[in-house]
Amino acid sequence: MLIDSHAHLDSQRYDADREAMLIRARQAGVGLVLSIGIGEGPAEMHQALDLCRDFNGRRQKGANLPRLFASAGIYPHNTTEADEDALAKLDALLAEPEVIACGEIGLDYYHEGAPHFMQRAGLIRQLEIAAARKRPILIHCRGTNESTDAWDDLFLVLEERWRPTGLGGVMHCFGAGWEQARRSLDLGFLVSFAGNLTYPKAQALRDVAARMPLDGILVETDAPWLAPGPQRGQRNEPAMVVETAQVLAGVLGATPNEIASATAANFLRLFNLRQDVGN
Ligand SMILES: [Zn+2]
Repeated sequence: MLIDSHAHLDSQRYDADREAMLIRARQAGVGLVLSIGIGEGPAEMHQALDLCRDFNGRRQKGANLPRLFASAGIYPHNTTEADEDALAKLDALLAEPEVIACGEIGLDYYHEGAPHFMQRAGLIRQLEIAAARKRPILIHCRGTNESTDAWDDLFLVLEERWRPTGLGGVMHCFGAGWEQARRSLDLGFLVSFAGNLTYPKAQALRDVAARMPLDGILVETDAPWLAPGPQRGQRNEPAMVVETAQVLAGVLGATPNEIASATAANFLRLFNLRQDVGN
């Protein structure tokens, strides 16, 4: 079984064919998808959970679908909307059994948007809420161009405020260097690789991936963005995680089956899920 650890299933780009798209994922061997609950802002944070319940219900009635779980969080550039109401909504969502992770949260200094101090404050408030609900976190981190500025700030926050929780998390759509990967593993995080691993210019990232231990990796689509390999530029979907897993297998000198089992086992261990949850 393959697990897509990160997909924005609530994207409007799936409105016309969401069930067919999920059936394709299941047929491609994807047994579980984590549906990311950031929407276009906190007002839409609940959409991932709604989808999760809807499709898990159809699955119970016999539809050939992957098992879904959800996350909830306020994206770095939406922290301008992280008022008390939004944070209370996040807390309530994280109390739901299907909402197994808080994210994607973090720091993004690459795109213009929320000021850095506001991103950091929003991240810290969400760490407090996630810790109280005992939910691992999904981190989005991107520095200014080639700089590690956002990562340096992120590690300062996580070392002080997240390491003591022992809850760990996921570095989603990892794109930084070995130093950041090593520090993430040291913090008890899993490092998740997306379709950009397959791009011709991503040799530096493949070199980082080649040094990863099998018990520290995940694969994801970040769908509908970042379609891998030959599908680049098209709408991405969870079935395409197969392609990223294949490239990761090549890089690590493992078989695609070994990558599927390792990444699934890592995901289930991080979130304390039963081994048979996606069967
Ligand atoms: Zn994402």
